[in-house]
Amino acid sequence: MVGVLVMEYEIKCSKCSRTSPSILDFRCSCGSPLEMHLHFNFEKRKIRKRNYSLWRYVSFFPYVNEKDIVSLGEGWTPLIKFSDSAYFKLDHLNPTGSFKDRGSTVLISALHKPLKKVGGYISEDSSGNAGASIAAYAAPAELKAKIYVPEGVSGQKFNQILFYGAEVVKVSGSRGEVAEDAQKLEKRKFYVGHILHPLFRDGIRSLAYELAEQFCWKLPHRIYLPVSAGTLLLGVINGFKHLEKSGLIDASPKIVACQTRQVSPLYHRFKGLSYTPPNRITSIADALVSVNPPLLDLMIKNLKEVNGDAVMVEEDEISSAFIKLARKGFFVEPSSAVAYAAYEKQLKTKETSMGDKAVIVLTGNGLKSKLQPPLRINAAF
Ligand SMILES: [Zn+2]
Repeated sequence: MVGVLVMEYEIKCSKCSRTSPSILDFRCSCGSPLEMHLHFNFEKRKIRKRNYSLWRYVSFFPYVNEKDIVSLGEGWTPLIKFSDSAYFKLDHLNPTGSFKDRGSTVLISALHKPLKKVGGYISEDSSGNAGASIAAYAAPAELKAKIYVPEGVSGQKFNQILFYGAEVVKVSGSRGEVAEDAQKLEKRKFYVGHILHPLFRDGIRSLAYELAEQFCWKLPHRIYLPVSAGTLLLGVINGFKHLEKSGLIDASPKIVACQTRQVSPLYHRFKGLSYTPPNRITSIADALVSVNPPLLDLMIKNLKEVNGDAVMVEEDEISSAFIKLARKGFFVEPSSAVAYAAYEKQLKTKETSMGDKAVIVLTGNGLKSKLQPPLRINAAF
């Protein structure tokens, strides 16, 4: 059809469906989160087979100019067979030590040119893996990054933020107040918060593509993901939905959202139970902290759409899974061990069986953990 512009994607409001006018927006003018909608099919022939990073899928991120890509070699992480029925996806081996690099490479690659054109810099609120990851990708892009962190924060992830050269702003008060400060309007400041910005979340759909390709398009029955703010969950579901819509898989595997007893708003809502968060989070899974995630409604909607499930694990189950993984040579953050603990729990409760193939996504590197051996298993909290 001559004269008809075919849009390859649209960023739309999850509530009022208004199309976002700018790729720099992190939320709709009505205040609700934005979502990426893809209007093209995934085609196997468009995979860059000789590129062993996330950017083998460059054709499926149409808002990124190939010459503007900022890459540290993220993605295309190993898939390891762990037992007769379980596989591990080693996403803790990404350049900054967490799966968040998938979001950062896509976000920074898409935005650094338009931001520099207007003399802008980026802000983000995180003291953890996302802050470290965004700081790392801003560095080679020569983009100034201001990372807002809670006062009193320390540890390896915070050290990463400093070494990558980001400016750190310490904020006293709640986690919500840290986010508010990061979003506060300031001249030339553009908020790219990893939870809200739709492009960060969109980068994570690459994980679904990799799993499909690594399993030769015959996906396992179940995929276990640790879930906090929901970026991993929503990104992976969106990737599988895209493959299904493109006719490459019959249906999404069963996505299992794994949470700790202390931080389990999704689990409780999904199961129709009420949730009261603790006054203080003391779990060893200290990367999972979103007791009131802004994307909860979206997470519930998406998990239901793909007929997913949610599991909650106890503190002793996380410790035990963390140690079991380490004793097999997998040194991951305790927050990643939550997904393995959930898998073991479902084997025990017979919600899954050894006949069902499962993938457990290992999300963060154990070198970032503050834990000191010996770890007391069955410790009270
Ligand atoms: Zn809206």
